[in-house]
Amino acid sequence: MSLAPPQILVVDDEESVLMTLAAVLRREGYEVHTAGTGSQALQAIRKNRFDLLLSDLRIDEIDGLTLLAAAQKRDPETVTILLTGYASLESAVQALRHGAFNYLLKPCNIDEMKLAIERGLEKKRLSEALRTRAAELEQANRTIQSINESLEEKVTQATAELAERIGELQESRRQLTAVIDSMQDGLLVYDSAGRVVQANPFALQLFSSSYDDMMGLGSVDVAKLTGEPPLTALPSEETADRPVVFEFGGPRPRFVRRIVSSIPSEAGRTSGCVVVYQDITDQKEVEQLKDDFLSIASHELKTPLTSIMGYTQLLGRKLGSANAAEVLDVIQAQCRRMNRLVEDLLDVSRIERGGLETAHCPVTLPTVVEGVLAKFRTTSHRHEFRVLCHDEGITVWADEDRLDQVLSNLVSNAIKYSPDGGAVEVTIKRREQHAEVAVRDWGIGIAPEQQSRIFSRFYQADSVVRSRRFGGMGLGLFICKAIIDEMGGTISVESAVGHGSTFRVSLPLWKR
Ligand code: ADP
Repeated sequence: MSLAPPQILVVDDEESVLMTLAAVLRREGYEVHTAGTGSQALQAIRKNRFDLLLSDLRIDEIDGLTLLAAAQKRDPETVTILLTGYASLESAVQALRHGAFNYLLKPCNIDEMKLAIERGLEKKRLSEALRTRAAELEQANRTIQSINESLEEKVTQATAELAERIGELQESRRQLTAVIDSMQDGLLVYDSAGRVVQANPFALQLFSSSYDDMMGLGSVDVAKLTGEPPLTALPSEETADRPVVFEFGGPRPRFVRRIVSSIPSEAGRTSGCVVVYQDITDQKEVEQLKDDFLSIASHELKTPLTSIMGYTQLLGRKLGSANAAEVLDVIQAQCRRMNRLVEDLLDVSRIERGGLETAHCPVTLPTVVEGVLAKFRTTSHRHEFRVLCHDEGITVWADEDRLDQVLSNLVSNAIKYSPDGGAVEVTIKRREQHAEVAVRDWGIGIAPEQQSRIFSRFYQADSVVRSRRFGGMGLGLFICKAIIDEMGGTISVESAVGHGSTFRVSLPLWKR
């Protein structure tokens, strides 16, 4: 309801009554319209919307009931109070049935009338407020319903997405199983409690076992079955076991390489591990054949070479001419080179068979170094050889011939890989329980990523392989490392491309 005063239409054919009622009501603060006839009243109702109609029941041919109907048609909330005499009490009751709010008996008590009007207007106010609340509730209801509908839609959508995800997961699980089952390597998966929870067909076939027998086994029981060394513990990412090669006895003996990786859990802990078994029996056989060939071929090459060298020396002594001596020198130098290559091949073959033998004795390091450099000083005139040593008596526990071989190789490399000449410097130092010999050159150097590989069999740096100007087979450092290992020492390199290299050999000191 607005803040404007309530609008009231008063209808009565007795002018004095009409005036009195209007005056009383205006004094109460209402905005009062008056009509003395039925048709005036109908006109006013058509024109205005009234909050309250106060009408005599009997006016003229248009009675109060007609006005009531018209007012309700115009605005169903209009409150109607009818004034009636005793004679028409029955009609007043009928009027109530038709929706009038109240009736007052004429002549009416003014206070009663004021009270009836107040109540009527109050009822109108309440019913309007009720309607507003109902409209608000209806709106809220509609909002809830639409939220409900959109929630329902979202749930349906999420359910469909979930179903799709589950489908995808099942598909990738099927794919994973297919990959694992078709692997040509054996696979066992351990859970966080260290029990086998997955085994692929290759693993079962390799170890002549069945799925049911394998499931639930701990690593110690698996080790009994396969002959492998038991897993240390469940490996974490940092401590994942190094690859291990073992022999599986069984009816069909196999050589197997085991690789263990941890399965990291979300919390960063290890939630189990995956063990892959590679059957390397064929590879081992090929390696064996290769080693056998290497050993036989180098032995076979060495015999004729030895006799060629012997006879060349003999011939040199018999022919005396300077020219012939020069030719023979070349032949001998090439034979020595070939002999070195064959010796290297033989050494590799011995290392592979674990038979590189060394005979240890006290060796004075500066003496060996001087001996090695003396050989090169006569042949390499483009290089300057320097020795830095503050302890002439420094003595190591080593095999003298093998140490000579190692240092010769390092100095020979220093010369070979500094093709523009320059210095080759050998430094001898005492370091706690060890002696250190460092062979330094200022040659082509070695790229960082290749430095750890140059001690491998047949490895040559890319630049060396590409240029082919340096020769060699990539065996020297491999043999050096095997010899130094055998003597309980270490060998390492520091190098920068274009700035040269330093090879450091560390050997145990001789303790008197
Ligand atoms: P080889 O010299 O017969 O190739 P080595 O085993 O003696 O075989 O050396 C392996 C590789 O290491 C060489 O091919 C070369 O690439 C690199 N290398 C060794 N010594 C040096 C050096 N002093 N300077 C630069 N590169 C070197």
